[in-house]
Formats: sequence, C-alpha cells, structure tokens
Amino acid sequence: MCRPVVENTGPNQTASHASLRADLHSHSTASDGTTSPADVMARAAAAGLDVIALTDHDTVAGHAEAAAALPPGLTLLPGMELSCRLSGHSVHVLAYLFDPADDELTAEMAAIRDSRVSRARAMVSRLAELGAPVTWDQVTQIAGDGVVGRPHIARALAAAGVVATPADAFTPEWIGAGGRAHVTRYALDPMRAVALVRAAGGVTVLAHPRGAARGWQIPDEVLADLAAAGLTGVEVNHPQQDAEQRARLQELAAALGLVPSGGSDDHGELTGFRIGTEIAPPGGYAALVGQAAGARPVTG
Ligand SMILES: [Zn+2]
Ligand SMILES: [Zn+2]
Repeated sequence: MCRPVVENTGPNQTASHASLRADLHSHSTASDGTTSPADVMARAAAAGLDVIALTDHDTVAGHAEAAAALPPGLTLLPGMELSCRLSGHSVHVLAYLFDPADDELTAEMAAIRDSRVSRARAMVSRLAELGAPVTWDQVTQIAGDGVVGRPHIARALAAAGVVATPADAFTPEWIGAGGRAHVTRYALDPMRAVALVRAAGGVTVLAHPRGAARGWQIPDEVLADLAAAGLTGVEVNHPQQDAEQRARLQELAAALGLVPSGGSDDHGELTGFRIGTEIAPPGGYAALVGQAAGARPVTG
C-alpha cells in the first residue's frame, strides 16, 4: 500500500531536513534509462537515499511501477523532464508533483512523444541513406517500452559497429545537433512549460543549465526570465556542472528566489549507474514539496 506523505517516515526518519538525501533526477526504461522503474527504486534504496525523483523524458509512464516497488523508508517524488527548445537550443525543464491527469499538460506530453517517434524514424532513414546498417526494428527493440530517442539510435549505431561507443554517435557526422542524420522535433517553449506545469499544480526546476547542452549554456538572463515566469528552482548539483558553475548557480538561485536542487541524472548503464552520487542541497526537497499542490510524494 502506498500512501501520500510530505516527509519520509521510514527507518531513516531521524534524518533531519538538512541531512535528507534526495536525488531529484533519474531515468528508467519508461524513457531512455536502461533499468526498469522498480530497479531504479531498488538502486535508490541501496544507495542510501531518502528520496528519489523519477523524471523520465516527457512521460509519467514509470510512476505506477515505481510506486508499487518502493522499498520501506524510500520516498518517491513523481516527476518528468520536459523537452523544451529556446532559440534553437535544447532546454530541459524538470517538473514535479503536477496533476498527471491535467488535460493540457498530457496533450503536450503526447505531442512531444509522438514527434520523438516520427523524428527518430526520419533519422533512421537518413542513416540508411548514409549507408549505416541500422533499422527501425533494431532501434525500437533497444527502446523496449521506453520513448524512442537518440540514445537508442546511438546504441544501435554502436551495436552495428558504425561508431565505437554510443557517445560517438552524437557528432556532426551522425546524429549530433545539426549532424548529417540529425532531425529536429517538436519541443515546448520553456516559458510555456513552466506555465503549464504550474497550472497543473506542479513545480518546475531548470535542469543542468550549465551542463549537457552540447556546447551551449543557458545564459543568466534566460534564468531570470524563467524565474519571473514562475520557475520554482534550478539544478545546482548535476554531474556535468563543475564546482565553479555550481557556486554561480547557487548565487543566481539566491538572487532570483529559486530553490537550489540537484540530482544524478542516472540513466543506468548509459551513464554508469550514478544514482545517489548527486543530491539536492539542504532544504531543497522540502522547499519544492512545499510549493506543489498537484500531487504528493509517495512512500513505501
Ligand atoms: Zn536533461
Ligand atoms: Zn535527465
């Protein structure tokens, strides 16, 4: 039985807010992670976390399995990572505790997922034209039940021996942004994402503003605009952000009234099983939960 709670009430309940270990960014096979939602929960507990957020790309499909598999003492923060685009650049917005049945939000999530599939198909066709021996069947087999994405195509390219590792596929030669076989897809304006999630009772956190953007870093002014539009927090702790970037983001968060957050962005095998290696700064988790009204965290 799962019941909604605000605080962790399991064996680790003696943990004060300050020492609460909350990894607020992870992926499962519901999107492009390599482990099932249940396994993500098991690994979160094994890593000694008090709270784990499941934030698959543009879907909440993994939440039910994760909630059903929650080990005692672990709290699940239901979330997702919305694919957005600003001035041609990819921007990721984490959303938590929104009403998963909200009409407008679910329609946008479906539009993004549908476009992901048609775009992935177009990329596979281009790869075939370029002579890479990769088929749509192979890609969907790798994706399994997850939302098809570039990581799955990258894995198919590596399996076919076209590139040495999946990471090598993200270049101009293959499926990197602007690459020979790259196709853009539908994505939300981040301002609209923030407004949609807020209208559904949830809170938003700008994901890895200084990392993972393949050469582009989100400017301070954009962060300020998003804060003015109702963004709740910013991801300070992320494996692709160094100490200097984290210090700057912490300063910006304080100046803009944003909640400093953090997470491992674990994708299982794809990123080296890093769950629990990054956590939200003290107080971050409670501050996010305190501002959300669309859903509640779930405990095992
Ligand atoms: Zn991301
Ligand atoms: Zn992510």
